[in-house]
Amino acid sequence: MAQATKGKLNYRCPRCFMRDIDMDMFYDEKTKQYYCLRCAFRGTEDEVIGLNEQFKQKYGRLRQRVVDFGEDNEPPKFSEHKAGEQ
Ligand SMILES: [Zn+2]
Repeated sequence: MAQATKGKLNYRCPRCFMRDIDMDMFYDEKTKQYYCLRCAFRGTEDEVIGLNEQFKQKYGRLRQRVVDFGEDNEPPKFSEHKAGEQ
Protein backbone atom coordinates (compact mmCIF):
# COMPACT_ATOMS: atom_id res chain seq x y z
CA MET A 1 0.00 0.00 0.00
CA ALA A 2 2.92 2.31 0.53
CA GLN A 3 3.50 2.36 -3.25
CA ALA A 4 -0.17 2.96 -3.95
CA THR A 5 -0.80 5.04 -7.02
CA LYS A 6 -3.78 6.36 -8.84
CA GLY A 7 -4.67 4.47 -12.00
CA LYS A 8 -4.58 5.86 -15.53
CA LEU A 9 -8.15 6.89 -14.94
CA ASN A 10 -9.49 7.87 -11.55
CA TYR A 11 -12.50 5.79 -10.72
CA ARG A 12 -14.75 6.56 -7.79
CA CYS A 13 -15.52 3.69 -5.45
CA PRO A 14 -18.85 2.13 -6.47
CA ARG A 15 -19.60 0.79 -2.97
CA CYS A 16 -19.06 4.20 -1.36
CA PHE A 17 -20.92 5.96 -4.18
CA MET A 18 -23.88 3.69 -3.47
CA ARG A 19 -24.05 5.48 -0.11
CA ASP A 20 -23.58 8.89 -1.79
CA ILE A 21 -19.95 9.14 -0.69
CA ASP A 22 -17.55 10.30 -3.40
CA MET A 23 -14.26 8.47 -2.87
CA ASP A 24 -11.39 8.05 -5.35
CA MET A 25 -9.80 4.62 -5.54
CA PHE A 26 -6.16 3.60 -5.77
CA TYR A 27 -4.68 1.14 -8.23
CA ASP A 28 -2.58 -1.90 -7.35
CA GLU A 29 -0.17 -2.73 -10.20
CA LYS A 30 0.55 -6.23 -8.87
CA THR A 31 -3.04 -7.44 -8.78
CA LYS A 32 -4.31 -5.05 -11.50
CA GLN A 33 -7.13 -4.08 -9.19
CA TYR A 34 -8.59 -0.86 -7.93
CA TYR A 35 -9.18 -0.59 -4.23
CA CYS A 36 -10.82 1.83 -1.83
CA LEU A 37 -9.16 3.16 1.31
CA ARG A 38 -12.48 3.86 2.99
CA CYS A 39 -14.33 0.56 2.55
CA ALA A 40 -13.26 -2.97 1.66
CA PHE A 41 -14.04 -2.70 -2.04
CA ARG A 42 -11.48 -4.18 -4.42
CA GLY A 43 -12.06 -4.98 -8.08
CA THR A 44 -10.77 -4.98 -11.63
CA GLU A 45 -11.48 -2.16 -14.06
CA ASP A 46 -14.23 -4.25 -15.69
CA GLU A 47 -15.93 -4.84 -12.34
CA VAL A 48 -15.80 -1.12 -11.53
CA ILE A 49 -17.26 -0.21 -14.92
CA GLY A 50 -19.97 -2.87 -14.48
CA LEU A 51 -20.99 -1.52 -11.09
CA ASN A 52 -20.98 2.04 -12.45
CA GLU A 53 -23.55 0.93 -15.03
CA GLN A 54 -25.94 0.35 -12.11
CA PHE A 55 -25.80 4.04 -11.22
CA LYS A 56 -27.12 4.93 -14.63
CA GLN A 57 -30.35 3.33 -13.44
CA LYS A 58 -30.32 5.43 -10.29
CA TYR A 59 -29.32 8.73 -11.93
CA GLY A 60 -30.28 8.05 -15.55
CA ARG A 61 -33.28 10.39 -15.38
CA LEU A 62 -31.44 13.16 -13.53
CA ARG A 63 -32.20 15.70 -16.27
CA GLN A 64 -35.80 14.68 -16.75
CA ARG A 65 -38.95 15.52 -14.86
CA VAL A 66 -42.15 13.51 -14.54
CA VAL A 67 -44.94 15.46 -16.20
CA ASP A 68 -47.64 12.80 -16.05
CA PHE A 69 -47.79 9.72 -13.83
CA GLY A 70 -50.48 8.20 -16.03
CA GLU A 71 -52.93 5.50 -15.05
CA ASP A 72 -51.91 2.49 -12.95
CA ASN A 73 -50.49 0.35 -15.73
CA GLU A 74 -49.13 3.13 -17.96
CA PRO A 75 -45.51 4.22 -17.79
CA PRO A 76 -44.97 7.79 -16.51
CA LYS A 77 -44.25 10.53 -19.04
CA PHE A 78 -41.08 12.62 -18.78
CA SER A 79 -39.86 15.91 -20.18
CA GLU A 80 -36.31 17.27 -20.36
CA HIS A 81 -35.41 19.65 -17.53
CA LYS A 82 -33.84 22.99 -18.40
CA ALA A 83 -31.51 24.69 -15.92
CA GLY A 84 -33.14 27.48 -13.98
CA GLU A 85 -36.62 25.99 -14.12
CA GLN A 86 -38.36 24.22 -11.28
ZN1 LIG B 1 -15.25 2.57 -0.95
